[in-house]
Amino acid sequence: MNYQELADKIKLWGQELGFQKVGICDVDLSEHEAELQKWLDAGYHGSMDWMARHGMMRARPSELLPGTVRVISARMNYLPPEAQFASNLSDTTQAYISRYALGRDYHKLVRNQLKKLGQKIEQEVGQFGYRPFVDSAPILERPLAQKSGLGWTGKHSLILDKECGSWFFLGELLIDLPLPVDTASINECGKCSACITSCPTSAIVADGIVDARRCISYLTIEYDGVIPEEFRKSMGNRIYGCDDCQLVCPWNRFSDLTQQKDFHRREALESADLITLFMWDENTFLKNMEGSAIRRIGHLQWLRNLSVAMGNAPFSQEIVEVLSSRKGLSDVLDVHIEWALSQQLAQTPLKNATNRQQRLIRIIQKGLPRDA
Ligand code: SF4
Ligand code: SF4
Repeated sequence: MNYQELADKIKLWGQELGFQKVGICDVDLSEHEAELQKWLDAGYHGSMDWMARHGMMRARPSELLPGTVRVISARMNYLPPEAQFASNLSDTTQAYISRYALGRDYHKLVRNQLKKLGQKIEQEVGQFGYRPFVDSAPILERPLAQKSGLGWTGKHSLILDKECGSWFFLGELLIDLPLPVDTASINECGKCSACITSCPTSAIVADGIVDARRCISYLTIEYDGVIPEEFRKSMGNRIYGCDDCQLVCPWNRFSDLTQQKDFHRREALESADLITLFMWDENTFLKNMEGSAIRRIGHLQWLRNLSVAMGNAPFSQEIVEVLSSRKGLSDVLDVHIEWALSQQLAQTPLKNATNRQQRLIRIIQKGLPRDA
């Protein structure tokens, strides 16, 4: 078999399947094991226990799928048109949702395309061992992507490339064919440190190292407990994920928009008014978020994140009223509602409030039900 010819074909098929770039690497990630262990030992994974549980298997693709000798890494752009970063982040009455999550959940789409790539190869070479992965949970996808020439690991710990920045998903196809490997990407961050200095919560603790416990993506998505108070103000209106470290990256000037309609902003998120989103009941949340990655955080966590954003919004009587109306659903949510109310009320000196506002403020301060 001419493996070089096959590798060339795989890259073409990958593009036909919607991937912007495909690369191939071997499975030796031994040089990353020590840094992974250090990251875990420092506790930077927070409550993501599965990271510790998977342990070094994440750095050993051949343990995930015995017989694996190569990994095909692929990237797919996700930046939707009309991303409206600046206007959305600066309007604190609106919710900011990480741009990768505005459309459909990418896992299924990317996995399906990788599976099709595997089937294409099978048609060419006959039966062989392969398995698609989409997610960094079981596998260290970023070092594999860098080895495959898809980009380098930036100081924000994400993969980025000169040609296209970092607004893309990664996926991997583990295979047992000894294809020729690609040249690894070299780091081009240079003296830039824009992502480090602009991170709202100082989560990038060293070049390429993120303390997840401080990262807004982790706090709003992975973490379901009480968000430490020290981060709540810095979260601003970011209710699901955070894109700041990518937004400031100079290489993202060269990004292309996604070609996948599935990643465009869904209708329910066209208007991301905080009050409207907060007033969705659980059924509305589940219906509006069907097929979205956001659905997985559940309605209570959705409300928790929105509460923080509402605490950071300019004072509005309506916000105070809707926040109060959601008290009592869960202890964790109540902590955030109380905090948000205190932030709202701190903006309204009692003497300046209207009679109705004064009554409301007194009711809330006494912790009485709204209709008391
Ligand atoms: S996603 Fe946001 S909070 Fe997390 S490291 Fe990047 S800028 Fe910081
Ligand atoms: S912002 Fe600068 S330091 Fe951070 S990833 Fe981009 S180029 Fe690298």
